[in-house]
Amino acid sequence: MHYQVKTSAILQKSLLNIMDKIPKHVLLKCCRCNLSTAHALIGQSESDYEYIDAEGSKCFEPATYRNFQCNNCSQVSLYVWSAFNNPLSNFGEQVYPVSEVLMTGTPTLVNAAYMQALEVKPHSKVAYLVLARRVLDAIVNDQKLQGRNLADALSIWATKGGIPPLLVEATDIIRKLGNQAAHEVDNDFNELHVQLIEKSLTTLIEYIYIMPDSFHELKSLLNMEMPNGNKI
Ligand SMILES: [Zn+2]
Repeated sequence: MHYQVKTSAILQKSLLNIMDKIPKHVLLKCCRCNLSTAHALIGQSESDYEYIDAEGSKCFEPATYRNFQCNNCSQVSLYVWSAFNNPLSNFGEQVYPVSEVLMTGTPTLVNAAYMQALEVKPHSKVAYLVLARRVLDAIVNDQKLQGRNLADALSIWATKGGIPPLLVEATDIIRKLGNQAAHEVDNDFNELHVQLIEKSLTTLIEYIYIMPDSFHELKSLLNMEMPNGNKI
């Protein structure tokens, strides 16, 4: 009896050791292989998230950084969770690789226009707003929308019901701010303008190019098994 208890304790301890070594798996969308699949949590640490507020001051927010490895392609990605990084989600936002998450599935020219806007963002708010407007040009060309100019093409798109009314308004604001940034020397853009424009642009691209694919992925997920054998 005593021997059995001892064996059981040893077995339990070794099982716990094994479990410690098995990385925790979660379901994430991999931007490298473009698959929604199991990811191993291979690292986690606490560190500040740095950001610029509306007055242009550098600020810090406590954050949790998590490193995940895709079970399919073995590539890694870094997520940051903080009050500023989608705090209602489990892991916050993916901060590396940057933007490839959004761009997966988008046409090359739209992708290029978006990447160019992202590249100038840390250096110039005015340049970002001008290039954000050019992303709209790229979308209009990709969608083969006819019109005398960008405003006209977007207006035609809206009447055809190509995008919901709220996104129609968002495109109009992006277009107007882009024009303002390009033609008016005396403007008063701050970090908040840039953040909100980026969010609107991201939503627009996701709606047009990414959301339809997500529905197809959802179907394939129903048959997927996690590494521990559980069904999704
Ligand atoms: Zn992958």
